[in-house]
Amino acid sequence: MDLVKLNKERKYIETITPKDDGKKVTIAGWIYDSRDLSKIRFIVLRDITGKMQVTAFKDKTSKEIFEAMAKTPRESVVIIKGTVKKSDKAPDGRELIPESFEILAEAEQPIPIDVSDFSKTELPKRLDYRFLDLHRKKIQAIFKVQSTILQSYREFMTKEEKAIEAMFPSIISSSSEGGTELFPAQYFEKKAFLSQSCQLYKQMLACSMEKVFAVFTVWRAEKHNTVRHLNESRQFDFEMAFADEFVVMDVLARCVQFIIKKVMEENKNELETLEVKLKIPSIKYLTFAQVTEIMKKEKVHIGKTDLSGEVEEKLNELYPNTIIFVHDWPLAGKPFYIMPKGKELSAGFDAIYNGMEISSGGQRIHLPELLAERLKIKGLNPKDFEHYIDSFRYGAPPHAGWGIGLERLTMLILNLKNIREAVLFPRDRDRLTP
Ligand code: ATP
Ligand code: MG
Repeated sequence: MDLVKLNKERKYIETITPKDDGKKVTIAGWIYDSRDLSKIRFIVLRDITGKMQVTAFKDKTSKEIFEAMAKTPRESVVIIKGTVKKSDKAPDGRELIPESFEILAEAEQPIPIDVSDFSKTELPKRLDYRFLDLHRKKIQAIFKVQSTILQSYREFMTKEEKAIEAMFPSIISSSSEGGTELFPAQYFEKKAFLSQSCQLYKQMLACSMEKVFAVFTVWRAEKHNTVRHLNESRQFDFEMAFADEFVVMDVLARCVQFIIKKVMEENKNELETLEVKLKIPSIKYLTFAQVTEIMKKEKVHIGKTDLSGEVEEKLNELYPNTIIFVHDWPLAGKPFYIMPKGKELSAGFDAIYNGMEISSGGQRIHLPELLAERLKIKGLNPKDFEHYIDSFRYGAPPHAGWGIGLERLTMLILNLKNIREAVLFPRDRDRLTP
């Protein structure tokens, strides 16, 4: 097979319409379905853009093609050349009458998971065979949407915010946010860790480059097994100089609205496939104290320093399709680097969307002495954070920022029940392959 030639000739299936009646085309893809009515044979061919019925007749089509169409198993990869025919009976009003049929790769049988549109194969098994799971339109739709989310994040940051995209190291020395949840790694003679966030680096960068963002992979060695946590996840990070938490909450709100608008515009088909009706969310600001009052009224238990899943769900019930910012967060519930606001409160916040936290953020401490003090209060040793503290000694402006989990956001935009659905190859407590 001359693949250069194929790439020039080949038509993506979605581009072929009834108007192409009579045209000769080449299509390539996977056999999705086949039917045999003795005198007439159908194949449905699927490529990344869509499906097309291929119809052969015993008395008109060549014997070779007619046989091959019956013999080639589903999910095999084939190239078919033929003539487009307008047809009221065929899906999308057109079919292909084949004139040549080439098998590129025959799929072994039996196929280990059900890859039909109505697949009932359970998630763990599907993830074992993720490469096959990705033959499914629904699964492809999830990752097409995720691609839009990723690109529109970058577009928002570069075009709307004029922020600078940054890369940070993923292998770090022991000094990080606190050593308990890190995966250890051997770095020559030294002990190192996989990064659990780019917090310290993005702050250092914002203190010179002012507005920065990153798409950054993080590893968290938490032994949880929940539908909202992964041990390897991707973060949208943002950090901005001369800003407090309200400035960056506004950026976050516009960012998520921008992303959702893009998905609504660019992924109409995928949203339909996934049966998701999206609307641009509205914005609500509440203090932690206000949320506490509301929960008392609603008779939902609320902790003193954090919001439980139940509280997050209740907030969604009260304010559906809303990005809810919970700010003036109790100081004890936020990390050492968050700026205190008086004795009890902080400049930290969480953002809740569709019943779950999508982001945490806040104004950071840019004052070295205060930072050392807060580290000690949190039971950490300022000596381990020398580089970090020193970075604020020579002209560091006030700054603020946040991080959104990419898989978490995808899950909530698409109403997926398990975060593992929103990552191609999940890493969780039990899964290190494929
Ligand atoms: P949660 O309370 O949901 O466990 P967190 O407060 O521990 O999250 P942060 O450290 O604030 O998480 O991380 C910022 C964002 O990254 C979260 O709001 C969430 O969107 C995402 N995130 C955090 N932990 C995970 C994880 N284990 N797997 C996937 N995404 C995560
Ligand atoms: Mg958080």
